[in-house]
Amino acid sequence: MSEQDDPSRDRLKHHFAQRVTNQARQVLEVWQRLQRTEWNAATLAELDDASLRLLRYAERFEQVGHSQLAHAIQQCVEGVRANRGRLSSDLIGELSQLMQRLSRTGLRHGDQLEQIALPALRKPVYLALQDLERCERLVQQLHSFGLNAIGCSTRAALLAACEERRPAALLIDLDFSGAQQGLAIVQELQKDQENRLPVLFCSDVEADTPTRLAAIRVGGEDFFCGSVDASSLLERIEQLTHSTHDDPFRVLVVDDSRAQSTHAEMVLNSAGIITRTLNNPIETLDALAEFQPDLIILDMYMPDCQGPELAKVIRQHERHVSVPIIFLSAEEDLDKQLDAMSEGGDDFLTKPIKPRHLIATVRTRAARARSLKARMVRDSLTGLYNHTHTLQLLEDACRRGQRSGMPVSFAMLDIDHFKKVNDTHGHPMGDRVIKSLALFLKQRLRKTDHIGRYGGEEFAVVLPDTDQHTAWRLLDEIRQRFAEIHFPTGKQELHCTFSSGIAELESGLDSRALSKRADEALYVSKHGGRNRVSIFQGEPTLS
Ligand code: GH3
Ligand code: MG
Ligand code: MG
Repeated sequence: MSEQDDPSRDRLKHHFAQRVTNQARQVLEVWQRLQRTEWNAATLAELDDASLRLLRYAERFEQVGHSQLAHAIQQCVEGVRANRGRLSSDLIGELSQLMQRLSRTGLRHGDQLEQIALPALRKPVYLALQDLERCERLVQQLHSFGLNAIGCSTRAALLAACEERRPAALLIDLDFSGAQQGLAIVQELQKDQENRLPVLFCSDVEADTPTRLAAIRVGGEDFFCGSVDASSLLERIEQLTHSTHDDPFRVLVVDDSRAQSTHAEMVLNSAGIITRTLNNPIETLDALAEFQPDLIILDMYMPDCQGPELAKVIRQHERHVSVPIIFLSAEEDLDKQLDAMSEGGDDFLTKPIKPRHLIATVRTRAARARSLKARMVRDSLTGLYNHTHTLQLLEDACRRGQRSGMPVSFAMLDIDHFKKVNDTHGHPMGDRVIKSLALFLKQRLRKTDHIGRYGGEEFAVVLPDTDQHTAWRLLDEIRQRFAEIHFPTGKQELHCTFSSGIAELESGLDSRALSKRADEALYVSKHGGRNRVSIFQGEPTLS
């Protein structure tokens, strides 16, 4: 009997596959809870238990990827035990990487298992709007920012989706499926639930106070009136869900006293926060560039330099203007505290500080800084990095490449005859082409590559650890595939192509010179007839 004739066997397989995924989700949930609470013996036991179970299921159902990860998590748990039950920065970093890989690991193909559609591990965000077209547009925009957004078009569809998978957040129209029905639906969704679902309400018209109160009572976290734009929605969703999927926060502690800094590190590590300590404040700028903290904790009084002086130096660097600085000191004089804040500090905590207070302050400040930064560095049409940030990433990659000797390539892309697309098919169609290329690049390139929107219809890609020939093959494959895309228009057929130029880092070259070379190579592609990828060939030799 063939597989297809045996539905019970398929059901069984589906059931087993679900077990592995559910168990993986439980492991992830224990880890995510740590981002909201603190580590204790019970958390350790839970993680131990959940990962052991995952290991067993994965082995039984021959999911090699999952069993390897579960095994590695178990080893980390052993590591924590050996560290007297405490998390360290190294263990947090390692666990967080394993969890990220776990959240991306699908079930092994073969054995017919690939036929089973498995839900992504990352929690989705549901959108339930009256205007279906607007809903779809928002869903697309949120996707381009990397969110797993799903539109639900009817009440039944929304309820079924929530039943199947509780989302990280829900955006719902006040009048979804009938006047004020949004409230009733949310009330129903929250019923008998231990943890309230974060809900964002929206409405075409201004909502009065009784309506807003009713929304708050059923768990409404915010109320958008008028048209909802993707970037403010994104910011709210990030605030509501950041704890569930972000990397651990990174905190730089600068304190001349080893005892003080060790204490701060221990407290922060217990909350899943990665730390780095400097007992010599003079090394701060190097550490900032290399460790890239989300937040800095500065001691007020140190022998070589004062905290506020150091804050001033940090703030003189454009790149570090927005990293929050918290002063930690025994200073109780309010005037002195205020002076310190005016030098670029964001908060002042007096020693001795309650661990819980320190953790809460760090989490709130760091989360806010991250969400601001995400908005500052990204382009709103495509969700790619903007021009300035792309150049900064190129600079970082070049510095690392020069140090490690690993290759770095830089590619510039420009859509061909784009003006004609706008002229013939209209600006919205042009936008759509730009967005598809952005999406295409995101799908085709690796997670370690940095993709930026350089200008209107120009893109740039930083490819660390990649030589120019490998970069050429990658980009040329993307070029060919992109040219095959057929864009639906009312009028004639629309196909688009792009040209690209690539340059590789050489010793003695800085990021600026590298991007100039890529630009020259792009010019060669354009000049040579477009729809091609060129590698920078060096100065023409005179002879
Ligand atoms: P070439 O092959 O030489 O690159 O020709 P081109 O027409 O693509 O180049 P040109 O630089 O002359 O024109 C670029 C056009 O892109 C002009 C501008 O109106 C359009 N553009 C820039 N940004 C956007 C955008 O965000 N959306 C849309 N729809 N068009 C844009
Ligand atoms: Mg151009
Ligand atoms: Mg162009």
